[in-house]
Amino acid sequence: MAGKSFFIDTSRCTACRGCQIADKAWWNLKGTKTYQRGNHQNPEDLSFNTWKVVRFSEVEVNGKPNWYFFTDQCRHCLEPPCMYTAISLGSKAITRCEETGAVLYDPKIKVKQEDFKKIRESCPWDIPRWDEKTQIMAKCNMCINRIREGLLPACVKACPTGAMNFGDRERMLDMAKKKLNELKAVYPKAQLLNADSVRTIFLVIDDPQKYWKYAAENGLGITMVAAIKRLVRPLMKLPSFVG
Ligand code: SF4
Ligand code: SF4
Repeated sequence: MAGKSFFIDTSRCTACRGCQIADKAWWNLKGTKTYQRGNHQNPEDLSFNTWKVVRFSEVEVNGKPNWYFFTDQCRHCLEPPCMYTAISLGSKAITRCEETGAVLYDPKIKVKQEDFKKIRESCPWDIPRWDEKTQIMAKCNMCINRIREGLLPACVKACPTGAMNFGDRERMLDMAKKKLNELKAVYPKAQLLNADSVRTIFLVIDDPQKYWKYAAENGLGITMVAAIKRLVRPLMKLPSFVG
């Protein structure tokens, strides 16, 4: 089953942070104390209570200062390294919804600090977060309770510019490829990030490193997944998603 996907067109993002706030509001996540750090981005990073953050990057384009915005969140990998690592550690804290493909962290299953460290290190996009007090992990869950009711994820619903899109994977891939072709004519470096291996498909108009150091995956993570899968396959029957 192809499942669902996000398509995030960063060229349309104005950094209004509506998506970031909508996610906090829907999941009733605690506020984060923020500081002026010489950058408009707040909070500074993802956390146990911040599952989506709009990253601000000041860049020079054609000799002029510019901003690139990157609405960072879980990529909901087709073959999630975090899930395979958890399984290899004997934990059932991470599962994948067979219908949508959403990668889900169980809010009731505790994970030891040393195990969490391995799970976080296995994520090529540095997404998983953990609460020291409760020993619970957290990240974007695709607003699974909304999409099972036929609603859009809160972040997509809140986006006023069309940067955030969500739907059946084939439709999102078509939309992403069409938009990429349009932008390529103006921005030769425009590209989709890891579209074949993730369900959160970003479109950027420049080198992904200029947006965020973990914006794109370099292929090593996928190699590691293959290795871990070989280890855990005999232990569990694992469904596989196509495209
Ligand atoms: S982006 Fe990271 S946390 Fe999200 S599914 Fe992939 S490996 Fe797991
Ligand atoms: S709501 Fe849309 S325009 Fe606003 S920050 Fe998020 S992706 Fe960008």
